[in-house]
This record gives sequence, C-alpha cells and structure tokens, in this order.
Amino acid sequence: MNSHDHRLQNEKVLYTCPMDPDVVSETSGECPKCGMELVPVDMAARGSEHAGHGAEGSFKRRFFITLPFVLLITALSQNIEQWLKFGFTFPGQGFVLFLIGTFIYFYGGAPFFKAAKGEISHKNPAMMTLVAFAITVAYGFSIAATFLFPGASLYWEMSTLISVFLLGHWLEMRAVRGATGSLMELAKLIPPLAHLIKDGNIKDLETSKLVIGDVVLVKPGEKIPVDGKVISGESAVDESMITGESRPVAKKTGDSVIGGSINQDGSLTVEVSKTGSNTAIAQIMELIRKAQASKPNVQYLADRAAAVLFYVAVAAGAASFVFWYFVSPQGAIFAATAAVAAVVVACPHALGLAIPTVTSVTSTLGAKNGILIKDMKGLEIARKLNYVVFDKTGTLTKGEFGISAVVLAKQSMAGDENQLLQMAAAVEMSSQHSIARGIVNEAKNRNLETQNIGNFKSFPGRGASAEVDRKDVAVGNDKLMEELGVRIPENLFIKDKKAGTTVYVSVNNVFAGAILLKDVVREESKRAVVELHRLGVKTAMLTGDTADVAETVGKEIGIDTVFAQVLPEDKVNKVKELQHRGNVVAMVGDGVNDAPSLTQAHVGIAVGAGTDVAVESADIVLMKNNPLDVVKAISLSRKTNAKMEQNLAWATGYNVFAIPIAAGVLYPSLHILLRPEWAALLMSASSVIVVFNALLLRKTRLD
Ligand code: ADP
Ligand code: MG
Repeated sequence: MNSHDHRLQNEKVLYTCPMDPDVVSETSGECPKCGMELVPVDMAARGSEHAGHGAEGSFKRRFFITLPFVLLITALSQNIEQWLKFGFTFPGQGFVLFLIGTFIYFYGGAPFFKAAKGEISHKNPAMMTLVAFAITVAYGFSIAATFLFPGASLYWEMSTLISVFLLGHWLEMRAVRGATGSLMELAKLIPPLAHLIKDGNIKDLETSKLVIGDVVLVKPGEKIPVDGKVISGESAVDESMITGESRPVAKKTGDSVIGGSINQDGSLTVEVSKTGSNTAIAQIMELIRKAQASKPNVQYLADRAAAVLFYVAVAAGAASFVFWYFVSPQGAIFAATAAVAAVVVACPHALGLAIPTVTSVTSTLGAKNGILIKDMKGLEIARKLNYVVFDKTGTLTKGEFGISAVVLAKQSMAGDENQLLQMAAAVEMSSQHSIARGIVNEAKNRNLETQNIGNFKSFPGRGASAEVDRKDVAVGNDKLMEELGVRIPENLFIKDKKAGTTVYVSVNNVFAGAILLKDVVREESKRAVVELHRLGVKTAMLTGDTADVAETVGKEIGIDTVFAQVLPEDKVNKVKELQHRGNVVAMVGDGVNDAPSLTQAHVGIAVGAGTDVAVESADIVLMKNNPLDVVKAISLSRKTNAKMEQNLAWATGYNVFAIPIAAGVLYPSLHILLRPEWAALLMSASSVIVVFNALLLRKTRLD
C-alpha cells in the first residue's frame, strides 16, 4: 500500500477568504476584495493556521511605522500650532509637510489602495474605494495648497485619518479572526502525531501519513488521531467536540472511534478506517465551510444596502463641499474637511460585516451543539416554522426492532418458527431497513445458519423478496402481500397488534407466517414535542407503518397529526399538503426515502448524520439522533436572526445620525463639526461593535 505519494500528488490546494468564501484563488496571499489573508480551502490536511494574521500584521506594522510621522506632522501643522499657541515656523516647512505627508499617504494608504483596486475591478466599489477616495481628496487638496495656491493644507487630517483607519482595521481583523477561527479550531483537534504499531514496534508517524489498515495505539488521555475501529482494549471516549454528546462513550473491540475525540482512562488499539478528507472531522469542516459560504437572504439585503450607501457617501461628500464652498462659503478647507468627513463616516463597513460575522459564529456554535448548518437560508427560515414533520422509524423511535413474537401459519411451508425466521433473515440480509436488521439480529441470536440467496428485490416502503433454497420468499407488510397475491388468513391471531409492526412472510406466494416486531420510542421524542408546542410549533409524524401502530406511537409521543401507511414516493406529497395549507414546514428524517421530502420542506433536517443521501438533501444535519436538537436548531435560528437584525439596525441606523453631522448640519447652530479623523474613529468603532455583538452569540446556550 503506497497511497501516501498518491495523496500528495492529487492534493491541489485552493485558497479562500475567511470573510468572503466566494473568493477562490489558486495562490495564497491577500483577498482582492478585503485584503484579508487567504486561507487554504482544505484545512483538514493542514492543521492549524491562523486566518488573517498576514493582513492583520500588515495593518499593525503600518500603523506603528507611520505613527511617529503622524505625530511629527501634527506638531508642524498650522492649526495645531495655533490652537496650542506655540509657533514655530521654518523656511520650507510646507515642503517638509509635503514629504512626510506623501510618505504616510503612500505607505500607510497602500493596503487601502490595493483593496480599492480590487473592488473597482470587481465593479463593486465599496468601503475601501471610499477610504482611498477620502484620503486621496485630502492629499490632492493639500498638494494644491502647497504648490498652487497659498493656504492651509490637510496633511494633518489626512495622516490622522490613515492612522485611525489602520488601527481600526487591525483591531477589527483581530476580532473577526475570533469569529472565523472555528475551522482552525476543529483542525487543531487532530493530533499531529500518531503511534503506529508495525511489526510489533511502535513508532511515531505524522497523522496525515496514516493509511487505511494501519494500526495505531492510543494511550490514556490522548486524542484519537483518525477514524477507525477498535481492535483491542477498552476505554471511554469523550466525543463531545464532534457529536455534542457530553457523556463519554464506552468503547470496546469492534466499536468505531472518531478522529479528534479524546480517549480517557484505557488504552486502545485502533485500525485506521478513514483518512484525509473522508474522516468525520474533515467532513464536518467541509460542511461548516459550505455553511459559511452559503449566504442567508438578509445578506443580499445588506449587500444592496451597502451598495446604495456607497453612492450616498459620495453624494453626501459632494453636497457638503458644494454647500460650504458656494452656498454658505466657509472657505475651501472647511468645505473639503466636511466633504472628507461625510465620505468617511458613511463607509458601509459595519454593514458589510453585520451578517457574515454572525453566520460564522452561528455555524461554530451550531457545530459545538451537534447541529451542522449546511445552508444558512434554511436556518434563517427555521425561526418561522410552525409545523415539524418527523419520520417515525429511526427518528422518533430508536429504529432498533426487537422480535416480540413469531406466528406460524397452519401447515406452514416454513416448518417451524426458527425455519421461518431463518428464511426471512436470509432475505433481509440484503436489505438496509431497520426492520430487516431486527430480523437478522434475532436469527443470529438464535444461532440460525445463514442461507445463500439469489434474485434479491427490494420494495421500498413494503418489504423485500429473494430466492432462498430454490423457493420464492417474500417478507413485508400487507401491501406487499396483496401485490404478490398472497392471502393472509382472516383469523390469524396476533396478540396486541397495536404494540408493534407486523411483517408477513410468504413462501412461493403462499402465506407462511408473521413476525411481530417492536421498536422503542425515544425518551427525547416526547420532550421534543412538548418543547415544540411551547414554541407554538405543531408536529406531524410520517410513516409507512400501519395506522394502528402509527396511532399508538403518535399518542404516546403527543403528535398532532399522524400520516400512516405512506409510501416512500408519497411522503413528499404530505409535506406539500401541509405547505399548501400555509404552514412553514420542517421535515426531519434519516433515510434514503426521506430525501425528496427533506428537499421539499422549507427546512430539511437530517438526523444522526444518517444516510449520505439524506445529509445531501438537508439544510441542517443533526449529529446525534436526538429530536430535541430540532428544538435547539429553532432556538439557534431565532437567536441568529435577532443578532443579524441588531447588527443591521446598528450598521444602517448610525449613518442616519453620523452623515448629517459630518456634513455639517449642526455647524451653523451649535458649531459642531465632525473632523475626518473623528469620523474615521466613529466608523471603525461601529464596525468593531458589530463584530463584538456577533461574538456575544458564542457564549449563548441553546437549551
Ligand atoms: P418508515 O416510514 O416508518 O421509515 P418505510 O416506509 O421504510 O417505513 O416502510 C414502511 C413499512 O414497510 C414498514 O413498516 C414495514 O412494514 C414494511 N417494510 C419496509 N421494508 C421492509 C423490509 N425490508 N422488511 C420487511 N418489511 C418492510
Ligand atoms: Mg425511516
């Protein structure tokens, strides 16, 4: 086995922006849109890297390097000297100011110019374009004042503006890194080294170099490096970081373990079963990344608002200049200062951050609670749900069928009970249904021999058939028997028919017997229904099982609406039916035949990281098989939306006050004018507030 080299060759790394996953690049570097450091898309193999450190560092460096020059320019500026009543002038002062100002403009302004260029080339002038525009206006005006007409320059204003912008971006990126670091946090769960057992020796090997079939030793207290199967040893494993389940899970030979979980007291020998991007952690990371890339609808609203605000900013700037220069003349300096301040304060930066910061925090918070959000749009709607439809088997019930009785037909072709079970089990070996697993397990427990079969056929929602020992054997419900023309005797005595699911067995199209199976209702199902009712959400149950069983289970749990004997292809119609009655519907299911209804529902929720198809069709995936997590998901949705609304309200609302003040409406009456550097400070503060507000969500509890 030499798949190491193979893997390395095939690994083509793409880079993306932690703030805007639409950005995909084949090379690392800074984001063309926002200037943030790009991070590898497939971080699974990479381990811990810090998002945004590069750009963050660049802002920090430029801030500190320009700071002494900004102070120098401040000391040399005429207005400051006037205010502080100390004068010192020297010949060529204007030219010195010009030199220092030029350095600050080009060195300090560089990240903004670069990002502005990116924005303009994407035909999406925004924040950075405004910043670049504002400092360029101030710089251009100052050059003119130095060389073309005698007058005071704006070097000082321009420099402090740049300084504040650099500081603001540095601080903000630090905060954003906190919000987006979740993927890196997950990657860090994987220990870099594993103890490989080979030819009786133990040697340490990089985790990324393990291949399927390798055997590793996990000592007490260590993290399990990859997904695998225990081949010897016994221990308890803390899987909370992956499944959200807080109790440690007992592991013995034959059990599966997940890479990234923490081994507790015992030592385990584990055979590697999955590596690289197939491991649970890598797939969770991929899901989170997709979730962060999926935009909730309010994002589009925010983006449109930001685009409008750009033009508002430019218009406000132009209007202030025109007004203070021509209409109510206060001189060119005053007019230019007000214009720059208005442009700066209107930068739609906070608006751009309002939603993405919340979505990244939300997806992490969800993941920590065992809720993986695949599509933010689904989570966005989840707060409005008023009907949750649950699949019965495996979702509301445990899906672990036990056999409670076997009934033989008179003169059965099966001979005795065990022979009937043996034949049924032979057919069910090839079926994925939880009923099938129940029958096969019972046959195993009774030490019945396995028989070979041919010509297996599956009838979704009805049963299965095959050729066993040259006889046609069918196992399924009354519908299947009807289809095959098998007559079920009227007087067939089945004790307590409502308590379980009856499965009939026919041999060569003649009724041979029946098997009574019992599934157990999950304790959490009842609580979930109670909680949902408290939130004003109605519940429905969807099952292919008989009305008798469905009613019994439905009553026990307290379900509002029961749909029984629904064929797999009709499940989707039941969801549609509820939708047509004006409900906002979530579908919760795990199986292959739930996929269409998961897609049809407003919110599709797959449980237990069930079948791949179900996971693929869902908006939200619950790691644990716990219906209570549906309630948590709704609560997460409500909290997320509240945060988004707060952020949007703040980010747009602040402009309503700030722009007019910056433009000078308070100047005539109160002599209040927002200086450009104060405008920059205010603008940065509003962004930082938005980010911190999003971060507050991290500490929320969902239950
Ligand atoms: P659910 O909607 O409860 O998940 P399905 O739609 O998968 O159930 O199946 C509906 C019914 O069809 C089951 O209750 C059972 O009676 C029958 N059935 C389906 N598959 C099988 C099988 N492999 N063996 C026996 N009976 C089956
Ligand atoms: Mg099912």
